[in-house]
Amino acid sequence: MVNDVKKIKYAINGGIGFGAKLNAKQLVMISKYMDEEEEIELTTFQQLYIEIPEDKEGDIIEEFQRVGLECYPVGNFVKSLRTCNFCKGEEEEGMPVAKELNQRIAGKAVPFTLKVAYTGCPVGCGEPMLSDIGVMKIGERYNLYVGGKAKGKDAEVGSLLMENLAPEELYNKVEKVIAVYAQMAKRRETFFKFFKRIGKSTIN
Ligand code: SF4
Repeated sequence: MVNDVKKIKYAINGGIGFGAKLNAKQLVMISKYMDEEEEIELTTFQQLYIEIPEDKEGDIIEEFQRVGLECYPVGNFVKSLRTCNFCKGEEEEGMPVAKELNQRIAGKAVPFTLKVAYTGCPVGCGEPMLSDIGVMKIGERYNLYVGGKAKGKDAEVGSLLMENLAPEELYNKVEKVIAVYAQMAKRRETFFKFFKRIGKSTIN
């Protein structure tokens, strides 16, 4: 019999924490919604792609969230923050700031998938300078980079947009950059191309 239940793709992960981890409860929950033959895709952005039946979407998302899984739409949205592993400790590396920033921006609709990376110290394990938007914690303040590109022959390191930001300034600035991109970019224009076209002064 043909199974014609429409499925919808979600990106899920265990949230921002020490390393990109999943616990046993979360793994059991994910497998509950997979057939034996089905596969799950692990992305380079600390997310798993899973397809769930559209008619049970709300209930399944609630179930996922009950075990601490975070669920994000797939497509032209701001992706959840790619973070470093916070090896030096939650407070010292600013995990609460990363969580708050993620909460404010992840899932916002944009012209093309937007990647944001966060890293808790200048070692830069979260590769913030190779993302569309990158945040680097330095001491108690934050540097903001934009326009990085990790892939392709034209890969490039991002530019420093602002430095020495307090957390609230960081949230506002990142939200503003995303709003400018959402309003001014052409349809399906990547942030990298958009930034090249309009320049630092327009976005700042
Ligand atoms: S960026 Fe710094 S705090 Fe984060 S994992 Fe790397 S060394 Fe540790």
